[in-house]
Formats: sequence, structure tokens, C-alpha cells
Amino acid sequence: MSDTKKLSITKLRKTFKHVIAPKDANYDKARTVVAGDIDRRPAVIIKVTNANEVAQVIALAKETGLALAIRSGGHSVHSVVDGGIVLDLSMMKDLQIDTNTKTAWAETGLTASEYTTAASAHGLTTGFGDTGSVGIGGITLGGGVGYLVRKHGLTIDNLLAAEIVTADGQILQIDEKNHADLFWAIRGGGGNFGVVTKFKFQLQDLPQAYGGMLFLPATAETIASFLTEAESAPEELSAIVNVMPAPPMPFLAEEHHGKMIIMALMLYAGDPAQGEKVMEPFRKFATPFADMLRPISYTEMFPPENGEYHPIAVSKNMFLDKVDQSVAETMLKHLQASTGMMSVTQLRVLGGAMARVPVDGTAYAHRNSKIMANLAVIFQNLDEKPIHEKWVNEYQKAIQQSDKGGYVNFINTLGETELNAAYPGSTLEKLRQVKAKYDPTNLFKMNHNIKP
Ligand SMILES: Cc1cc2nc3c(=O)[nH]c(=O)nc-3n(C[C@H](O)[C@H](O)[C@H](O)COP(=O)(O)OP(=O)(O)OC[C@H]3O[C@@H](n4cnc5c(N)ncnc54)[C@H](O)[C@@H]3O)c2cc1C
Repeated sequence: MSDTKKLSITKLRKTFKHVIAPKDANYDKARTVVAGDIDRRPAVIIKVTNANEVAQVIALAKETGLALAIRSGGHSVHSVVDGGIVLDLSMMKDLQIDTNTKTAWAETGLTASEYTTAASAHGLTTGFGDTGSVGIGGITLGGGVGYLVRKHGLTIDNLLAAEIVTADGQILQIDEKNHADLFWAIRGGGGNFGVVTKFKFQLQDLPQAYGGMLFLPATAETIASFLTEAESAPEELSAIVNVMPAPPMPFLAEEHHGKMIIMALMLYAGDPAQGEKVMEPFRKFATPFADMLRPISYTEMFPPENGEYHPIAVSKNMFLDKVDQSVAETMLKHLQASTGMMSVTQLRVLGGAMARVPVDGTAYAHRNSKIMANLAVIFQNLDEKPIHEKWVNEYQKAIQQSDKGGYVNFINTLGETELNAAYPGSTLEKLRQVKAKYDPTNLFKMNHNIKP
């Protein structure tokens, strides 16, 4: 029987130090996730401080039958649940960096920028995504696509081991040799298999770099040329190319505001002088509206964020084989037709180290996918949602190519279609088998749920 009444907050406070209940002043802050349209009210939020407490929360969820959500950085739509228990890892921020072996043990309450700032002090890093406040828990378990994807692969390609608390309360140390099936599954399979308390990452040398933002006018020609150049550039270069109407940014002349632009976030992970040469062609596709590329430290790729920003958006994630002028034309047409507050198409050129990992080497099976695309529209009024969903669905259909996959961390709607896109081929079946072994009752289901 599942029953919130079974929860005695007073009793819980005797077991756990950090218990947040609906009447507490910090309840609203603790239950808020990034997405502005998620407004769920858990029965309790427990901020854990070690693996034993994680095991105790798991036992509590089983005993009460209440739904359990796991939260690291709170950037997904899965980490809060109505009437259930939120296991919040954000107090677990220990980070042990070994500069000799160039490895790090990191607790999963760390954010990407906290980890990066500490590692960069030693001229070392591990690649996460483009946003510093994203939790290393969620991003790693889904794959992790960021500024080092072509040079050093996904985040999971730099994952050496993990500590995980499984549904039966066991605390397991897992890697390629120990519980290899589970270690395979957590590299892309999300939070389906247990609560990861620590990751052991490979650190990469990155004492200096070249990069930042480049703003160009977006035409079919500049978009196609940009993507072609990014695909053939050395692997040190990874670019996140946003095609969108120019926001009223202070460094963009007013005459450009609202016009279609390329806002490219670029990093050359290597010698800045070489990086400058590699960036040269990009600067020449058109006269830049703003050119902020420069010698840069990796930590600067995570600019300060507004923690109070909670956008309402609909989005689709997909992979493309190529973006030529005709595809770019279609993109511009759809972006211009959107009635949202802000519409954007984000393109990430993949390949390089990411593509050298075998397709079945991890649960992230999109190793041959060429370009990742995120189609998104941000809007203010929830009543408008159906209009924007229609827009994004039609847009996706119009540019769909041979690759029907999607990246689990960017898929925000749940269902079998989404699961099949995230886990193509034999991946999903293999994940189901691992799930049946480690979580047969499907305790961990607040995610892109893989049923045992
Ligand atoms: C603004 C923004 C920018 C982004 N940029 C990128 C990017 O550049 N690259 C990229 O790859 N992704 C990116 N993402 C997607 C992001 O990786 C996912 O949303 C990810 O799930 C967020 O992780 P989190 O820990 O912050 O989220 P949470 O919501 O806290 O966690 C997400 C889910 O992951 C699981 N989970 C998290 N931690 C654990 C754990 N320790 N043990 C077990 N399960 C766990 C749970 O199921 C949880 O519900 C971005 C998202 C946003 C909102």
C-alpha cells in the first residue's frame, strides 16, 4: 500500500540530518527544477550525505511504496515527484583529484562547473556539457555531450568506475571488470539502475584553449558552410551552433536584433595559437556581428547563470546526417514561422573520439551519428503549448533524415517511441536485462523508464 501517511517527518528527522517537508521555508526552493512548467509537490525531500543514507532512503521508498525521484543538478524533468520522496544528492560534493594518475573520484552532487573549476586549477579537465549548473549525476548517466566531444569523447567515455547503491540497498563498486553489465548500462542508460554516489573520471590535460562566442548572420549558405567546416576541422574543435533570432544582447548592434544569426559557442581544446588558425575560416563566412573568440580557460566556457531562470519550452532532439543549404533553408523557414518568444535550432557536430567507441561499447549507441540537433521554442503562456508542440513536430518531420535516433538527456517527453529513439538496435533489450537483474521491481522509474 502506498501512503504518504506512513511517512512520519518527525521520525525521519531522527534518521536523516537534512529533511525538507512541505511546511518548511526551503521546501519550494528544494522542489524547483529548471523547467518552468514543472510544479510537483513531493511528500519529502531528503538531502543525503553518504552512500549509507542513500541505502536508507531506498529502504524507506520500498517500505512506504512511495515513488522515488533522484536529483543531482535538477536540470531534467524527472527529479521531482508529486507525493513521493526526492533523494537529493546536492550535498555530496566531495572531489578527490589525483594529479599523478590524472583521475578524479567525484561525488554526484557536484555540478559540471564545480568539478571543472577544481580540476582546471591543475590544468586538467573532464568534458561535461555547455552549462555549468548541470549536475554531473544526470549528464554522465545519459552520455554527456560537450565542448570536448570530438577530442575526448562523451563524458561516459572518460568514466572509469562508479559507486552505486542498487535497489536491494547494496553499495557496489563497478567498472569494466566488476559488475561489467551494470557499468555498461549506466553509461547512457540514465538513472534506471541505482543511485550513483561517486564517479571515477579520467582527467585530460587542458592548461589552455582558444574559444568563446562568434556571431554571424545566418543564411542558408553561412549555416551550411559553418557545419561543413566544423566537420572537417581538427578534433580539438567542438562547436555548438545556435541558429536563432538575435536576442537584444548588449554587444550586438541594435539593427541586428531579431535578425537570424548563428551564435556559435566554440572551443579549440589545445594550443591557443593553433586554435586561432583553426577558427580563421569561420570568421570569414560573413562579417561577424560580434567576434568574442580569444585565448580562454576552459572554466570560462561556463558563464555565470541566473539560477532564477525557469523557462517553459518544448523541444525535440534528433540526429542529422548532413546540413547542406537546402536543409539550412528549411531550418530558417521554420524558425521564422515560430510564434514563440524565442526559437532556436542547436547543432552539434559529432564524430572524432566519440565515434571511435564501438556502438555496443556503452548504452549510448549513437556512435555513428554525425550531427546532433535540438529544436526548441521558449514561450510564456502554457495555453500556447499545443501550438508550439505542433510547430516543433512539423519542423522535425521536415528535416528528418536517415538517422531516427535521439539523445536521452535532451528528450523531454516520455514514451516507447522516445525509448526506441534513445536506445536503438539491441541496446534497449540489453538494458532491460540489466534492469531485471538489478532493479526487478522497477523502483527507479522517474526517468526514461526501462521496464524490467
Ligand atoms: C540548460 C541545459 C543545458 C544542457 N546542456 C547539455 C549539454 O550541453 N550536454 C548534455 O549532454 N546535456 C545537456 N543538458 C541535458 C542534461 O544533461 C540532462 O538534463 C541531465 O539529466 C541533467 O542532469 P542533472 O543532474 O542536472 O539533472 P537531475 O534532474 O537532477 O537528474 C536527472 C535524472 O538523472 C538521474 N540521476 C541524476 N543523478 C543520478 C544519480 N547520481 N544516480 C542515479 N540517477 C541519477 C535521475 O533519473 C534524475 O531524475 C542540458 C540541460 C539543460 C537544462
